[in-house]
Amino acid sequence: MSFLRMPVVAGLVLAGSLIPVSSNAQEAAMGQKDLKALDPKLMDTSVDPCVNFYQYSCGTWLKQNPIPADESSYGRSTELEDQNRLVLKSILEKAAAGGSERTPNEQKIGDYYATCIDVNAVNEAGLKPLQPVLDRISALSSKDGLPELTAYLDSIGIGTLFDFGSDQDFKDATREIAVFSQADLGLPEKGYYDRTDAKSVKLRDQYKDHVARTFELMGESHDQAAKDADAVLKIETELAKQSLSNVEQRDPQAVYHKMTLANFEGTVPDFAFARYLRALDVPPVDSLNVAEPKFFTGLNAVLPSTDLDSLKAYLRWAAIRQTPGTALPQALDDESFNFYGKILEGQPEQQPRWKRCVRSTDRALGEALGQVYVAQRFSPQDKQRTLELTRDIEAAMGRDIDQLDWMSAATKTRAKEKLHAVANKIGYPDKWRDYSTLEVVRGDALGNLQRASAFEVHRQINKIGKPVDRGEWGMTPPTVNAYYNPQMNDINFPAGILQPPYFDPRQDDAVNYGDAGGVIGHELTHGFDDEGRQFDAAGNLKEWWTPEDEKKFTERADCVVKEYDGFVAVDDLHVNGKLTLGENIADLGGLKLAFLAYLDRAQKTGVELAKKGDAEYGGLTPAQQFFVSYGQGWCQNNRPEDLRLRVQTDPHSPEEFRVNGVLVNLPEFQKAYGCKTGQPMAPAKRCAIW
Ligand SMILES: [Zn+2]
Repeated sequence: MSFLRMPVVAGLVLAGSLIPVSSNAQEAAMGQKDLKALDPKLMDTSVDPCVNFYQYSCGTWLKQNPIPADESSYGRSTELEDQNRLVLKSILEKAAAGGSERTPNEQKIGDYYATCIDVNAVNEAGLKPLQPVLDRISALSSKDGLPELTAYLDSIGIGTLFDFGSDQDFKDATREIAVFSQADLGLPEKGYYDRTDAKSVKLRDQYKDHVARTFELMGESHDQAAKDADAVLKIETELAKQSLSNVEQRDPQAVYHKMTLANFEGTVPDFAFARYLRALDVPPVDSLNVAEPKFFTGLNAVLPSTDLDSLKAYLRWAAIRQTPGTALPQALDDESFNFYGKILEGQPEQQPRWKRCVRSTDRALGEALGQVYVAQRFSPQDKQRTLELTRDIEAAMGRDIDQLDWMSAATKTRAKEKLHAVANKIGYPDKWRDYSTLEVVRGDALGNLQRASAFEVHRQINKIGKPVDRGEWGMTPPTVNAYYNPQMNDINFPAGILQPPYFDPRQDDAVNYGDAGGVIGHELTHGFDDEGRQFDAAGNLKEWWTPEDEKKFTERADCVVKEYDGFVAVDDLHVNGKLTLGENIADLGGLKLAFLAYLDRAQKTGVELAKKGDAEYGGLTPAQQFFVSYGQGWCQNNRPEDLRLRVQTDPHSPEEFRVNGVLVNLPEFQKAYGCKTGQPMAPAKRCAIW
């Protein structure tokens, strides 16, 4: 339940300064732009704000910022990512050059980055570093060896026939339990394997060609590669058939099936899961969550009907596909980019290597790198200011719950209990991750990636059976994103997003409440969206709504589903109202809460709400500034291929609808701009939940 799309990554997901600490001269030398949260120069005031507020707020930005060749989309969040990446680059280059006086963490991030960036060494090594993995796969002499082999592959970050990890027990948020879930496949989502429209069929053909070419580049003959690609597609299609769709997975009840290991093994007799767990060195598992039981009974049917050579082709494909391109020789790296970057996202060019290596280091050692980032870009005062803003938004939500006309007093009491229990995590963790057992070897690119994956797998597995660590973060500090976790009941704002243009202390409250306030309101509202509302104050999946209130909530949510179903994202492809429901509820509730909090703040500080601002604020009233700041947070150009991918996989709506789709529902917006009822941005019928 994040603010922005989470990157799709190969292998495991390893998981400012409001007033910049460094000087302006240093900023400029580093290539930093001066980003403002509200910038009237980015607007297109020839557009009527009551007709298309997104174009009105962002029109000039959209014209001035074509998508760079090495991006699939480019928006204001990408601008901030660019800024953050320059800071990280300078940290990493310094650590890479440093000698014996480096701290252990500086040695790790510096050597990791220096090794990643050395393209010649990676090319010279070719596929040799991956050979031990490929050898283990070829050595598989019968399907009986699969539990040990897949455990080995999982231990170095290569997921195969299913996923395994740890998670809080949905019904006992104090405990970590083991979780088996459906496999990640080579195409982005189940629907990609069964849609029959021309574009989807073509994409599947392109995928199969990509798999075949990859096998050829790994040394197979043309015919063998084609045969193996067929086998991969066949197995993946079978597994996709047994999988839940992304919409189905949004229902927490649908992905919670707690059982004993013995019971689970009984449903999948053709795969010895107890042996798999032993091989992976997992502590004793007394109970576990089998997220999608149907997938595993399906897997049990696929295994006997698949021959050993086909399975080995599937495992080889899993291994190469999930090996990050920065550790592969050029031809394989290019081939992977051609499908996943060019075809799937429409991105013409690969990113320069340094950008990919900054990202790779952040994934592997994010809290070591993030610690230095925070020291440079996020001060204790910044943290304090964000905390105050967060508390303002939370107070607004309390008042908002009180005045809801559709919710009973009993449910309101429980809702406020939950609200008061939300933990605010801001900037960075209180306790930094200890990387002392992770060895980084200069010159061993693939080894570093595998050891980082192994470190993360071990960290996850070690949680099983233990109490939950509530201090843990699921994003690294430099990340331009934020999230709510319903099982922790916490909101998390990495230092990376608490920077201009999302938070800008040089500008007025109206601006920061519209921007950062909207982000905070969004995450907070996730606790009360269609998914988050099913968890209670302690983070347990537990009914706390009266049936009548639940019914009224669902009716209101259906209004939002219908609204977003009506938006055309690209060509003939509509936004999926059910897939994006939680995010749309969070956008809608979040901005309303931020505005309520702002009105309160304005009253306390004596702001004249009707008074127009000066040129820096575009001559806009404070309420108008609030909404334009919100709108400008979403300025973004998208390639059509990427939009198509997002509509089918991303729970977030495209930016234009995150602005216009929200504002049409707010009477406060209509009032701020004096729109007439019936104009496009001020419809007579509205959706309202929070
Ligand atoms: Zn979200």
